[in-house]
Amino acid sequence: MQSALTKIILDESRQGESFLSSLPENKHFVKTFYIESYGCQMNFSDSEIVASILNGVGFSAISNPEHADLILINTCSIREKAEQTVRTRLKIFEQVKNRRPSVLVGVLGCMAERLKSKFLEEEKLVDLVIGPDAYRTLPALIGDAESGLRAVNVLLSRDETYADIAPVRLGSNGITAFVSIMRGCNNMCSFCVVPFTRGRERSRNAESIYAECCNLFQNGFREVTLLGQNVDSYYWVDERSSEIVTFANLLKKVASISPQLRIRFSTSHPKDITDDVLVAISIHPNICKYIHLPVQSGSTRVLQQMNRTYTREWYMAKIIRIRELVPDCGISSDIISGFCTETEEDHLATLSVMSFARFDMSYMFFYSERPGTLAARRFQDDVSEETKKRRLSEVVKLQNQLSLESNERDLGKVFEVLIEGDSKKSKHEWMGRNSQNKVVIFPKSGNCFVPGNYVDVRISACTGATLLGSAISGNCN
Ligand code: SF4
Repeated sequence: MQSALTKIILDESRQGESFLSSLPENKHFVKTFYIESYGCQMNFSDSEIVASILNGVGFSAISNPEHADLILINTCSIREKAEQTVRTRLKIFEQVKNRRPSVLVGVLGCMAERLKSKFLEEEKLVDLVIGPDAYRTLPALIGDAESGLRAVNVLLSRDETYADIAPVRLGSNGITAFVSIMRGCNNMCSFCVVPFTRGRERSRNAESIYAECCNLFQNGFREVTLLGQNVDSYYWVDERSSEIVTFANLLKKVASISPQLRIRFSTSHPKDITDDVLVAISIHPNICKYIHLPVQSGSTRVLQQMNRTYTREWYMAKIIRIRELVPDCGISSDIISGFCTETEEDHLATLSVMSFARFDMSYMFFYSERPGTLAARRFQDDVSEETKKRRLSEVVKLQNQLSLESNERDLGKVFEVLIEGDSKKSKHEWMGRNSQNKVVIFPKSGNCFVPGNYVDVRISACTGATLLGSAISGNCN
């Protein structure tokens, strides 16, 4: 049911419209916006694009929704729980709107894309629903909403990468930053909503990525994480020179900026990660020795149900290959427990692949059926919640043991740590991470280091989540 006051962007022609021209003159005065983000790093990175677009039309970011002219929530749709969180937050914003009816409320991201205009029917306080590929039209839609229209733009694009928009770093520590290198995903993992909420894969212009990383380095950042749903399939062709830039080439290009700039990347896909990438990691000291390689399940039968396009054996061979070419590489993963038809035997196969890979860390969840996905259409969500939770707790228990064992293997070793800031627990301690992406905490006393410095730290103790040590050398600058 569409109310007369709802404007839905259906025609492509409004895509990429210059937002300054579409706004009536008086919109150039300073207004404020508040944005909160949920879900994966891509969403947080997108919020920085949105902040840049809004800054461009005179909106400035504030940290309290109570005082904002525009409240935005950048949503995640990966699990039911993530969507529940959004609905709970909207209840809070409803109170703000009741107190200040002029405030506009907008929903961005994957949940906006999944629900589209249905969101307006379900949530009366929402004025704007904008999908991940339509942020350029945000200012124009704000204009519509300010004149009483409720606006929706959830068009997915085959080429939008926001390459020309310099992100505004939100809540940044000034040392580490995320740089999106591609958008969308061409894989069709049966449990995943991303291909439906973020569209087809497209790689961003390599020159614009290089320029953004240079700019970050010149502004004091010392680490960039190259972001994509499946970075290994990054592929960009320079139309002028016909130069082909694969992910391995891109890594080398960014690594050439400065030895003082660390490079990380996320997320890899076991079927696409190549020896070229592993060799690039092994020969460039500033490309971090860390790979996030989601396995999801240790059972080939379940992997086929998940449409992950690799087998247990293929995955284990990748782990062996990584350890051959990058011996000191840290490896983390994603695991889903209780996927449709998963048996006890499949579950044990997952536990055994974890023990084989000796993951340093993993993101672990039980299967949450997502409407519209292949799995929701093809399979029964037949594993009981009780069994899902029991299996997940066994996966978590094993991972905690593996994480502790991994950190215990680091006792006595010396790691180069990039200081990111104060430890959460004490302002008398520095927090940083080593190349393997492990958090390292060490005392400040007796040293002149500042965030952004590289320090050699000898590890003397650990927990399952943290390495503890003391600085033995480093450059104060
Ligand atoms: S690789 Fe699979 S799980 Fe990852 S975003 Fe793409 S479809 Fe989703």
